[in-house]
Amino acid sequence: MTIAIPRSTAPAIPGVVGSSLSVPLVTGERVEYANLDHAASAPCLEQVRDAVDELLPWYASVHRGAGFASQVSTRVYEQARDSVRRFVNARSTEAVVFTRNTTDALNLLARSLPRHTSVVLFDAEHHAALLPWRGPNVRRIATPSSAEAAVAVLDRELASCPVGPRLVVVTGASNVTGEVWPVAELAKVARRHGARIALDAAQFAPHRPVDVRALDVDYTVFSGHKVYAPFGSGVLVGRSDWLQAAEPYLVGGGATKLVTDHGDRLGVAWSAVPERHEAGSPNVVGVHALAVACDVLGRHWEQTVEHERVLLARLRAGLATIPGLSELSLFGADHDRVGVVSFTISGHDAGYVAAALSAEHGIGVRDGAFCAHVAVTRLLDEAGAHEQRALRASLGLGSTEDHVDRLVAALRSLVAEGP
Ligand code: PLP
Repeated sequence: MTIAIPRSTAPAIPGVVGSSLSVPLVTGERVEYANLDHAASAPCLEQVRDAVDELLPWYASVHRGAGFASQVSTRVYEQARDSVRRFVNARSTEAVVFTRNTTDALNLLARSLPRHTSVVLFDAEHHAALLPWRGPNVRRIATPSSAEAAVAVLDRELASCPVGPRLVVVTGASNVTGEVWPVAELAKVARRHGARIALDAAQFAPHRPVDVRALDVDYTVFSGHKVYAPFGSGVLVGRSDWLQAAEPYLVGGGATKLVTDHGDRLGVAWSAVPERHEAGSPNVVGVHALAVACDVLGRHWEQTVEHERVLLARLRAGLATIPGLSELSLFGADHDRVGVVSFTISGHDAGYVAAALSAEHGIGVRDGAFCAHVAVTRLLDEAGAHEQRALRASLGLGSTEDHVDRLVAALRSLVAEGP
């Protein structure tokens, strides 16, 4: 008789590099590192590492060399645009401009707006989306306490904008609370007022599929290092007309078709989009890594979303048992969120707790105001917290049930020790 060995039917999630790293504790003992800081930067996918390894012997300057390595690099670089387009379901007419990261992409968009564009955004944005917009026509809306109210208040704000180009900027998911913003609803309102809408997908894209056509957004930005590729690459995807009309904000080789000497001045014919905004030797390896990460994530959404849903429920249930712990929330505890949770523990300094989690338990979390000072300060005030820092635990493909359980147990013991 043969005995069938039961096998897990759950399809595997993509593996990440360094999933069994061990780190030293203050006691000298070593434990497996529990990385609960995916929202800051996600670990590299194994398939991304392999793809980068394969490209390393071949990388060369793109677009400019006749040599074989240059041809390989140029092909890899241009194919990466297709991977990004597929990842966000962009139209073939939309530009895919490679940048250093989300911050760079949003600054590029800000420098490409037609004069007198009204920019409308909520004050809960990450600094990368909050700060690049300049001038008298920038309107910052205090984030209301529900997603429905956010849609209504945007409607009112746009109705009173001066005539002329308009841009709404919104994040897909908060990097503080993980809460998902009502992007499709906000885009509908934007359309009604003739405004364009830019989606900061830095925190949403690692967790859920982005479909720019279904959402009806005009621009999307995200970073490679948050979607399981190493640092150094990001992207701006979107309508090309404003980008094509704008002077490059980074000038140099690659962005120019022709430079001519007119004695007292130089004449410059800028390249068309996307090269127009990609001056300098591009980060072929980084862009390839980002593209492969997009391809891999795109093939594993079901498993990725489910993995995170289960872990997030476990994390939140565990945190709810810690005395004095309060979760931060923009729209209420029941609002849909990705695997990011920020919290305070009454009477306990967030910086001290984060340091103790690392030194005594080998657990990595983030503490501070997460580059969203306006939002965090308000949420902490509302929660009656005496300090201006919170703790953040964030999940992803490198997270396990054991990491979550260790965090909860470590917090319980830190709280039991007292402040
Ligand atoms: N937007 C959001 C929502 C983020 O979470 C982050 C990074 O944490 C950024 C923008 C900035 O990303 P980067 O530092 O890769 O430019």
